[in-house]
This record gives sequence, C-alpha cells and structure tokens, in this order.
Amino acid sequence: MAETDEPMLVDGDTGSTSDWDDRWNHIKKFLERSGPFMHPDFEPSTESLQFMLETCKILVIGAGGLGCELLKNLALSGFRNIHVVDMDTIDVSNLNRQFLFRAKDVGRPKADVAADFINSRVPGCCVIPYFKKIQDLDETFYRQFHIIVCGLDSIVARRWMNGMLLSLLVYEDGVLDPSSIIPLIDGGTEGFKGNARVIFPGMTACIDCTLELYPPQINFPMCTIASMPRLPEHCIEYVRILLWPKEMPFGDDVSLDGDDPEHIQWVYQKSLERAAEFSITGVTYRLTQGVVKRIIPAVASTNAAIAAACATEVFKIASSAYLPLNNYMVFNDVDGLYTYTFEAERKENCSACSQVPSDLHFSPSSKLQEVLDYLTESTSVQMKSPAITTTMDGKNKTLYLQSVASIEQRTRPNLAKTLKELGLADGQELAVADVTTPQTVLFKLCFTS
Ligand SMILES: [Zn+2]
Repeated sequence: MAETDEPMLVDGDTGSTSDWDDRWNHIKKFLERSGPFMHPDFEPSTESLQFMLETCKILVIGAGGLGCELLKNLALSGFRNIHVVDMDTIDVSNLNRQFLFRAKDVGRPKADVAADFINSRVPGCCVIPYFKKIQDLDETFYRQFHIIVCGLDSIVARRWMNGMLLSLLVYEDGVLDPSSIIPLIDGGTEGFKGNARVIFPGMTACIDCTLELYPPQINFPMCTIASMPRLPEHCIEYVRILLWPKEMPFGDDVSLDGDDPEHIQWVYQKSLERAAEFSITGVTYRLTQGVVKRIIPAVASTNAAIAAACATEVFKIASSAYLPLNNYMVFNDVDGLYTYTFEAERKENCSACSQVPSDLHFSPSSKLQEVLDYLTESTSVQMKSPAITTTMDGKNKTLYLQSVASIEQRTRPNLAKTLKELGLADGQELAVADVTTPQTVLFKLCFTS
C-alpha cells in the first residue's frame, strides 16, 4: 500500500460532535438491511440507529475491568447517552487492564476518569459519571434508563441492583406492565471464567432465582488445615486461622490486615515453617497475600470477551433487531475455549421476584437464632446481616437487628427465645431487610409439628 500524507481519520480527530460521512456504516449494516439472523418482527429502517444515537439511555454499573471494556464497546457502537456508577478510585494495579486509566490518574475516581476519557475520545458521546455507591442512588434515578449493564465483582451489589429493578415493576391486578421492565445485562468474570446473562425482571430468571449458582466461599476443611496439609494454601490458612489468633503477633486486638506488608510478611514466614514441616513447596509472599485477601487474578482477555458479549446484548435489545441471548452464557478459557448457553429458569418461590412470600418451615419450639442462621446459610437465601421485623397487634416489632449496636443489644435476647415464646403464630409474616436487597423481603412462617 502506498504511503500517504493524509492523516488517518480516527474517532477523536475531528474535534466536532457532528457525524462524518460513513461514521455509522458498520452499525447500519446490521440495522438497515435484513439478514438471516434478524428478529422475525424487525423491519430494517433508519429509525433504530436514530434511537440508539439520540434517545437510548444506558447505565453501566462498574468502571473497572468489565466497565472500561463496556464503556468503550457501547460508545463505539453508537450509544451516546451513557451513565456510569462506580464507588472506587484507581489503583496502580488496575492499569494493566483497565485501559481508560493512566498512571497520572491513580487515586482519582474510576467513574470520572473513564467518562472523561470516552468523552474526549469519541465525539458526540456523553458519558455522565457518578462516584457513588449504587445504594446512594434511588428509584427515580434508575427508572430513567432503557437498559442497565452490570460489570460488578460483588454478588451483594448485583443482588441489590436486581432487587431495585424488581421494585420498579408495576403490576396491575397481578399482571405485569411490560413498560415498567428495564432489561438487566449482567457480566461477571473470575480469572479465566466468566458469564454473561440477560434478565428481563419479572419475566425471566433473576439473580436471586439462580442464587445456588453462586456457592458460598469455598473453604478448606478444618481437619486438613489443622493436621493434614497437602497444599501451600493449607499452610497459609493454618497460620491465618489458627496461629494468628493464638500468637497475636502485633498485639491483642490487632486483627490480620491483608494490606499491611508486615502482617503478610509474618504470615508468610510462619507458613514457610509450616510447609517445611510437611515437605510442601510453593509458599510465596504473593500466594500468601492472595490467600489472605482471597484474590483471584483478573484476566484482561476474559473481561474483554464477557464485556463484548454484554455490549452485543445491549445492542440487540436497544435496536430490537435481533433476539437476545436466552439467557445465560458461561465462558471458560482456562484450557482451550469453552462456552455454553442455557436458559436459566425462574424459581417459583424466588424470594426476590416471585411476588409471594417464601415459606419458612420451623417448629414453634425453634429458636429465633435458627431462623437467622437459615436466612444467612441457606443457599437459596444467602443474606448477610438480616434484620427481622413483624407486625403484632397492629404494631411493628423488631425481632432482631444487627446493624445498629443499641438495637442489636436490645434484641439479642430474642435469639435465644423460641418462636412460640416470641408470640409468633403459624402463617405470620416476617419482613426481613438486608444489604442484598433495597426492599424488605417477606417470609411466611409455616409451623411444623
Ligand atoms: Zn427471582
């Protein structure tokens, strides 16, 4: 190819917000002519592109590994009204994959820097950042969006978002008003594994319907850690769980801090001794910190693949030109490449989206503590610090609440009481609040004999 003095035209060189010729040709190919994969009801026209460029409002949750990819993909696909929420600031360790950030940005809010980058790089695109927790924004905020995409690393945050979108649904005589549905596209990655899913709240399986897919943190059996270590991780866990509380190397009330190099150094040295005792190799400082902080390395290529799948779903739903993913795609590139798509089913008694209170089966002689344990330990509920209230004789009564110290102290004795002693009746409704949901969840007490 002959060399030319003409500068290559790339997004950002024009400095203007107006579109240049052929700017959206790559998108028009999908929207302005028909094809074999088109949605059966779709009529090719110029309207879809106009909607994407001018009207469609997208919310991206998270401006980290997935968020950077999502913002770039959406902006280059023609979405111009993008809002992004992230509560984090940039750390130097993010720079290898969160490519909207530079060394000079370390310490600044991810949302702000990501928005500035996209806005200056992609003419006409307007990304509005929120350096906030998702919980600090309310219903009116979330209601304004056509589609919400999550690139989060926290299950609690994901569940909260899911609960928020469920709370926006409008039912008339038990029938869901489709205009109140905001589709949720959820991407998640962990090392070389990832998933992308499409949720139509109230219609398809929600996050809580498939809660069993997020098993609680896998821990090593205590007997292995205490007496039969085989892996370097077992040795580190031994020091973390058993030796630290026994020796209290930094004083009586100093708990292990994964960000304190002296703490990690101590755990590392003791783990080496433990490993030597059992002829185990592989304990390193890095592994020690990884185990203590439960770090799973982030892999840029996994983020890129999952974000691409999510952005494609946004494009399909916003344009309505193609059928969306139905509805859960798993991805794994540990060894070769594996993907599989299946239809996650709604759970009839899902405590988040089913519209009917879930039953809690307990004997009248069960203690409130057992109910609390069920709410946190059951794989289908997995709450974090549930606050349980009920109505008795027309009055609200708090049975147990953990988050406020004075109330916790006052309600703690209830945990040792039986349900009968607390005056609870068969069929009584318990309202449970938790960080995993913006709304209280209703449960119905069903006494077993
Ligand atoms: Zn559900």
